[in-house]
Amino acid sequence: MNDCKARHLGAKKLAPETQMMHYGYQPSLSEGAVKCPQFQTSTFVFDSAQHGKDFFNYASGREPLPPGEEPGLIYTRFNNPVLEILEGRIALWDEAEDCLVTASGMAAISTSLLALSKPGDVVIYSEPVYGGTDALLGSILSQYQVHGIGFCSSEGAAGLAKAMEEARAIGPVSVVFVETPDNPTNQIIDIRACAGLIAAYGQAEKPILIVDNTMYGPIFQQPLQHGADVSLYSLTKYIGGHSDVVGGACAGNGEVISRIRGFRNIMGTTMDPNTAWLIMRSLETLKVRMQASSASARQVAEYLQQHEQVESVLYPGFLKAGDPQHEIFQRQCEGCGSTFAFAIKGGEKEAFAVLDKMQIAMLAVSLGGTETLIQHPASMTHSCVPQERRAEIGIGENLIRISIGLENPEDIIADLEQALS
Ligand SMILES: *Cc1c(COP(=O)(O)O)cnc(C)c1O
Repeated sequence: MNDCKARHLGAKKLAPETQMMHYGYQPSLSEGAVKCPQFQTSTFVFDSAQHGKDFFNYASGREPLPPGEEPGLIYTRFNNPVLEILEGRIALWDEAEDCLVTASGMAAISTSLLALSKPGDVVIYSEPVYGGTDALLGSILSQYQVHGIGFCSSEGAAGLAKAMEEARAIGPVSVVFVETPDNPTNQIIDIRACAGLIAAYGQAEKPILIVDNTMYGPIFQQPLQHGADVSLYSLTKYIGGHSDVVGGACAGNGEVISRIRGFRNIMGTTMDPNTAWLIMRSLETLKVRMQASSASARQVAEYLQQHEQVESVLYPGFLKAGDPQHEIFQRQCEGCGSTFAFAIKGGEKEAFAVLDKMQIAMLAVSLGGTETLIQHPASMTHSCVPQERRAEIGIGENLIRISIGLENPEDIIADLEQALS
């Protein structure tokens, strides 16, 4: 499906935001409709019995796809035009060889970890990591004898090096899973340094480096350009962007993505076409949304930093030259995003008082939507992390996380002003 619009205009390479309105869609196949229609169908008619046989042979890998042939539409758990167009468009942002979409961000994470690991393997991951990922690695994958070893994101690549040495006594490392910047403390991990450690590890089958790129990607961070094999997303956040759908994606190396796709198609973690259609719509405004919310977040962060009730603001835009985090940020990121945390003077009681007084920002978890959301990590998103561990990784009782949306930033500042007073 992805061969119908040039990615170049003459010699000029088109920017991804330009291509979000056309790439992969051929109007003549859909009555000339400007927009790709919904293909709300579970199954597809074959032209002939031979076609049906060929499509199954290609889909299962029993026969290689002849050059220039399309794999053929069979059944929506495997493929659907809307899903394929969406996958092609997400791949463009990351300059990925291939992409697959899933029913949720957690479906992307669980399907890829299961596809790439076997009993006895070790998955190394950065901490803090998204709560669902933490539960998957801590209790679910261990049922399949896949061991998880965490390292502290504030230790960065040095932490990964230690975890890799620890793994030598346990088993082969199948996946290194890095979430950067982390949430809610915004520590940035050097992806290139992680890829270097993996390349030097000397294991027969090289560990796969997956970066959870939900917080910055694809606009402010492109992990594949820094040596990652897979850039993974919860599309529920910035890419979906309107807090009305749940979805996930993996973009990256063609061979790795096809292994994950094989698992997805059998385990049934595929995205439904209606969600895919909504996310395709979201992609058209992705860049302007992320740029606008990021600019507003800077204004809000600057306001908070000078407020006398605020102890600190964990915002990468305030990193100072000379700080190693600043150097990694400069090399790896192109913007600060719009989700950050700040610590106020006091503890849980004071934090709750601020949260309960907010009038425009809504008190809810999740992030990356058009509306500003605010929450208390220690008692909400990160309440499963044991208290001592929370203290180690910087999630205090006085920490508040905010995800800035598309409201006028002056209004968000006014809301914080009345809540903090
Ligand atoms: C939300 C989130 C996920 C999980 O995504 P779902 O779509 O909720 O399954 C994974 N990683 C990060 C960083 C997230 O913010």
